[in-house]
Amino acid sequence: MYNAKAYSAANETSPLAPATIPRRDPTEHDVQIEILFCGICHSDLHSVRNEWSELMPTVYPIVPGHEIVGRVTNVGSAVTKYKLGDLAAVGCMVDSDGTCFQCKASLEQFCPNLTLTFNSPDKHLGGVTYGGYSDSIVVDERFVLRVPTKLDLAGAAPLLCAGITTYSPMRQRAITKGKKVGVVGLGGLGHMGVKFAHAFGAHVVVFTTSPDKKEDALRLGADEVVVSRNVDEMRNHAGSFDFILDTVSADHDINAYLNLLSRDGNITLVGAPAKPLGVSALSLIMGRHSLSGSMIGGIAETQEMLDFCGEHNITADVEVIPIQKVNEAYERLLRIDVKYRFSIDMASLKSE
Ligand code: NAP
Ligand code: ZN
Repeated sequence: MYNAKAYSAANETSPLAPATIPRRDPTEHDVQIEILFCGICHSDLHSVRNEWSELMPTVYPIVPGHEIVGRVTNVGSAVTKYKLGDLAAVGCMVDSDGTCFQCKASLEQFCPNLTLTFNSPDKHLGGVTYGGYSDSIVVDERFVLRVPTKLDLAGAAPLLCAGITTYSPMRQRAITKGKKVGVVGLGGLGHMGVKFAHAFGAHVVVFTTSPDKKEDALRLGADEVVVSRNVDEMRNHAGSFDFILDTVSADHDINAYLNLLSRDGNITLVGAPAKPLGVSALSLIMGRHSLSGSMIGGIAETQEMLDFCGEHNITADVEVIPIQKVNEAYERLLRIDVKYRFSIDMASLKSE
């Protein structure tokens, strides 16, 4: 065991502050990574503030962070895929049983014995796992991903959650040229959803509550932008979408979007507001619409997504911040004031 530097929160109302946390010494299958950048996902904020207390209560202290990019500093004797100095990445998961039907289907994210990167029981050290707001992490090589070397690292970090979470449902729904795709909410997830839908050749419409994001949405790859509070603009798209990806982090009217689906159209929720959404039965029944959800993606699909990003030079649009600004960044996330992902430069942790 060794000590690592980190930022942690002591309870649901306290800010994140410098802390020392234990990390295990690498076992034979482990990769030790010096963390260079870690994205700030809205899930970090939901978790730090215990907003999902019913399903996933937070255990304190919490060290969030699951959009991790860094460099390999040590490998166990049985590690075959990574060597010292390699770039490496870690997303939302660090372990699963590897034997259940979900794991066998490469859907580790649904494994009943999944270990999340933070706030999951830690099989090695007891307590809970600690995430990427830290200077290093030790992870089984099965859960370590390869980062295409040509990508900007600060912008690559958010691919590990925002990237795969938006890539996966669109791949599962076979989004290609000829499909009309909506993306609701232009935040961290939403802006990645726009980039992928555009790269897959779809006609992309962004729904935003922020009229000042219109130009950015078009630059990111949208073909049209709708200000969702404008009823007339919404009505113009009634009954026309094959697929809508809903990335909104707060309470909103899902029926307004169900009514925009064409026959057999689907809305996939990836945003996870704390409060239940009120779904009108008629909005589903009329047009045989469906509403579903999606959670990150399996390890193989995450690697596929990273390779796709390497080929198409796709990264997140990031504002790089030192870790000392993390609490301010959370407040700005809540004010919808981020373009479009914060990425923490972990070199800033050295001065703590
Ligand atoms: P984010 O960067 O804060 O973006 C959320 C966006 O939603 C905002 O930029 C805003 O877009 C819109 N929005 C916010 N409040 C709103 C409101 N009251 N009404 C309508 N729209 C509102 O968050 P994120 O990191 O992308 O995460 C989004 C959600 O996905 C979070 O709930 C997060 O926990 C969840 N998530 C799920 C998964 C998964 O596996 N399913 C993975 C990661 C994250 P506009 O300004 O364009 O309206
Ligand atoms: Zn996330």
